[in-house]
Amino acid sequence: MTLTNKILLGMVLGLVVGVIFNLVLGADENQVPASAVGQWLQTYVIDGVFDIIGQIFIASLKLLVVPLVFVSLVCGAAALGGQSRMGALATKTLGLYFCCTSIAVALAISCAVFVQPGENVDMATASSFTAPEIPSIKETLIDIVPSNPLQSMVEANMLQIIIFSILFGLAISRTGGEAGSNIMQLFNNLNDVILRMVMMLMQLAPYGVFCLLVKLFSSLGVGAILDLAKYFFTVLFVLFLHGIGFYGLLIKTLSGLSPVVLFKKMQKVMLFAFSTASSNATIPITLRTVEHDLGVDNKVASFSIPLGATVNMDGTAIMQGVATVFIAQAYNIDIGIAGYLMVILTATLASIGTAGVPGVGLVTLTMVLQSVGLPVEGIALIIGVDRLLDMVRTGVNVAGDAVVAVIVAKSENMLDIERYNDMTLNAENDPVEKS
Ligand code: ASP
Repeated sequence: MTLTNKILLGMVLGLVVGVIFNLVLGADENQVPASAVGQWLQTYVIDGVFDIIGQIFIASLKLLVVPLVFVSLVCGAAALGGQSRMGALATKTLGLYFCCTSIAVALAISCAVFVQPGENVDMATASSFTAPEIPSIKETLIDIVPSNPLQSMVEANMLQIIIFSILFGLAISRTGGEAGSNIMQLFNNLNDVILRMVMMLMQLAPYGVFCLLVKLFSSLGVGAILDLAKYFFTVLFVLFLHGIGFYGLLIKTLSGLSPVVLFKKMQKVMLFAFSTASSNATIPITLRTVEHDLGVDNKVASFSIPLGATVNMDGTAIMQGVATVFIAQAYNIDIGIAGYLMVILTATLASIGTAGVPGVGLVTLTMVLQSVGLPVEGIALIIGVDRLLDMVRTGVNVAGDAVVAVIVAKSENMLDIERYNDMTLNAENDPVEKS
């Protein structure tokens, strides 16, 4: 069985076992199982064994993120340095990210206005939500440049790591000579070693995914979905429409490549994104797949994938678009066309500011709501179904990064088209990996 199928099996089994636990345990509203056996299962099996394995799996992915982004981007920037294509590459990548996200929000708003998910909402279903403080734009801008690169790495501050790695890589290429080429060789070798580590740890995925999903679904009340069915399914519909329809069209029209190939090869990345609900934790797998399976040159991938995982969140923006319309309708507030345009702008900016970790999209939604004068407490209405939507939207978030990387690489002649189309190429059946 291929690794992708094993992960898929782990996911389905995790979901089924999790739902069975949920039904058997019969937890009350405080998530405490009624019977003594139920409490034992909850403490030692779900919060014990499954939680431990799930957390270890996420940690094993995260441990690779900082070293991989740093080393890979230094290699990319050093190789690019001599060709002075960095500016064009960055402009194209950021431009595409921005356009895709704005289109995603516009699509979300249009569908939500049509479906009217916030009509007749029972306000009593709301749990509580306290809005955290959002940093100002000034602070955010200053914060992009690292004052201490080691601290940026310790804190896994992705934008700061990106800036430092690019500078470091460019300096290597400008240093040139023996010193420059020795260091570059060292980084290239390190890159190979870290990618090998990604492959090794990926083998844990089926078990990790299984445990994560058992834990999640054992405590997830599906009742919340029924109360919010219209909202839930509108977000889901737009996520699929954008993730498959829009991305497919974009790949076909802008690069002339087959979208089916991309979706097939991205399957396991999406499964990782789905089960971890974190674009950041998925970076190692995305980078490995985009370079190795899809044939995107390291110079493009090492820049666009970590950057995308940090600033490009089409799935998150879609949720925010639908959520804003939903909350406006639930509170019976008409924000008008100008309001919707404002939402497109702020949701695009909010998705840039959303960190690639679980649940942050809901926090930055406060910024969008405030921009059009909607009550932030409205978020409490949708909190119950957000974890599930978070999993799906994270899949769309990472797919968007890969799509843009492929388009930019193709336009810059940095895509190995034979590799892209080679369906036998999948990380798990690479002969080198088997040895
Ligand atoms: N979980 C999302 C991600 O990592 C962010 C969010 O929407 O909360 O991409």
